[in-house]
Amino acid sequence: MSDHRLREALDTLKESGVRITPQRHAVLEFLIGSMSHPTADEIYKALENKFPNMSVATVYNNLRVFREIGLVRELTYGDSSSRFDCNTTEHYHAICDKCGKIVDFHYPSLDEVESLAEQVTGFEVSNHRMEVYGICEECKSQH
Ligand SMILES: [Zn+2]
Ligand SMILES: [Zn+2]
Repeated sequence: MSDHRLREALDTLKESGVRITPQRHAVLEFLIGSMSHPTADEIYKALENKFPNMSVATVYNNLRVFREIGLVRELTYGDSSSRFDCNTTEHYHAICDKCGKIVDFHYPSLDEVESLAEQVTGFEVSNHRMEVYGICEECKSQH
């Protein structure tokens, strides 16, 4: 399953003319294998033993390349660091207030919210983000 997604992602890189370096391959593999929406720092820490010469900046640069060709989505949260999501299908997030974990869930896209917002505000709406917050199952069971 994730092997298949990795192969597809590598094909997308090739089609976009992006060179597949061993580091890019590893960053992509890690992202696809983890459903945890990691930060660049977490990816760096996970791969640091494998690539001692790689810096956090390199990880960031690779993530930016992936984002530009639509392989990952960047989720920004104010001043804390961005999280990266390789699930680019329409979905929403549930976020744990305690441990910060982000879990994907699917819900019919809230298109009517976008069109209402356009009517009310006069904005040309390009996208939206919806998140629910609470305590995840794991944190709940640690009481
Ligand atoms: Zn939690
Ligand atoms: Zn997600």
